[in-house]
Amino acid sequence: MPNYHIQTYGCQMNYSDTERMESYLQALGYKKTSTFKTADLILFNTCSVRQHAEDRVTGHMREIGKIKRKKPNLIVVIAGCMVRKSSSRYSSKRDKLFNAMNELDIALRTEELPRLAGLAREINPKIKIPEIKEESLEDYFCITPTHTSHQSKAQAFIAISNGCDKFCTYCIVPYSRGREKSRDINDILMEANELVENGCKEITLIGQTVNSYGLSKYDKEKQFFKDLKRKYPKKEPFVYLLEELDKLHAKGLQRVRFTSSHPKDMSDQLIKAMAKLKTQMPYLHLPLQSGDNSTLKRMNRTYTTAQYRKIIQKLRKTIPDISISTDIIVGFCGETDKEFKNTCKFFDEMDFEHAYLAQYSKRAGTTAARFIKDDVPEKVKNERWHNLNDILLRKKSKKAHERFLGKTVNVLVENQKGKTCFGRSEHFKIVQFKSGRRLLGQIVTVKITKAKEWILEGELA
Ligand code: SF4
Repeated sequence: MPNYHIQTYGCQMNYSDTERMESYLQALGYKKTSTFKTADLILFNTCSVRQHAEDRVTGHMREIGKIKRKKPNLIVVIAGCMVRKSSSRYSSKRDKLFNAMNELDIALRTEELPRLAGLAREINPKIKIPEIKEESLEDYFCITPTHTSHQSKAQAFIAISNGCDKFCTYCIVPYSRGREKSRDINDILMEANELVENGCKEITLIGQTVNSYGLSKYDKEKQFFKDLKRKYPKKEPFVYLLEELDKLHAKGLQRVRFTSSHPKDMSDQLIKAMAKLKTQMPYLHLPLQSGDNSTLKRMNRTYTTAQYRKIIQKLRKTIPDISISTDIIVGFCGETDKEFKNTCKFFDEMDFEHAYLAQYSKRAGTTAARFIKDDVPEKVKNERWHNLNDILLRKKSKKAHERFLGKTVNVLVENQKGKTCFGRSEHFKIVQFKSGRRLLGQIVTVKITKAKEWILEGELA
């Protein structure tokens, strides 16, 4: 039986995609292996949001080249955000990646995963790949994921949409993953139901902009969304989905999280649902990217700071103890000192409890790379990142943690090394505590005794 090895980079969506890739490869007769050397097929599921992520993949190619010389039938695949065109080294129209990587055999767009077997046969017509029912693979979402990203069955990702229609100028996703397409709600609910029956307590709904679920031009043509609109004319599809998932609380589902959301689709209806539903947690990740209106405009984020502020105010009014985190890009094209200061000021005002900070890096194929000059020196980007991280973020995170001191929180244990357990609280805070018992996958009550910058420490209550 041939072996496969997958290396995954990037966001939770990529990890969720890897679960489908594993399932597909297993259906083709491949078995999982943990090293490059023992693999007959190596797949890199890539991210190209930052240059650094791409460099890590290209950095492996020398080692792969050495293995290939000893093992000429080894198939090397790159999938994910680095790929524009699904193709093999023998295809007449090939992805540009082939020009830079001699070791590469197949480039694969994620949503075209069902084409992998055909492309592998282009590489080696004699390859022993058992035929599998093509109709079961027509639609990417029809491939059942392995749900192996988490250490226990208590947690799972469910992909609800793929692609994006927002076209932020710095982002490659609308080109690499294509236009936004949402998955049929019945399939999502069936998958969720099966997971919960097998002991799942926390589901994270995944998509590029999950809260625009069912709203894209493509979705509006789908019969299911048409029927939903006819039945509940005022109900937003994403809210309907959260309500249906909430019914699984009776069967044991405790938590439903979702990521990422776009401020443009953060509606009043959704905020009310988050406050009301039993499985909704008091936490939201809402990417801001910049706290300056001119920068936001150049990024094509389609909202202003005033509109963003209004959403945060509504969230805090409706869910008073909610924790809010965000994403910020510093050093975007044309960002002046004044614009950066505006971002710091707005960050402070919004009182974010956590943030994922990135320094802008030019990505080939994006609107920004083509039309906007990347004119902020790397040194300045670096300084701005440290300013935001060291002065504001660390302070905010510590302050946010201190509010839990002496209180009890419910923690879903995600990892256990010896007697040390790690997990997330309702507010998505990382909590560490000790226990002699095996608690992986359980929700336990922990009394918080220490509030550090990035984690909370406590003891079993
Ligand atoms: S919303 Fe913007 S940043 Fe997010 S995936 Fe879409 S284009 Fe990229």
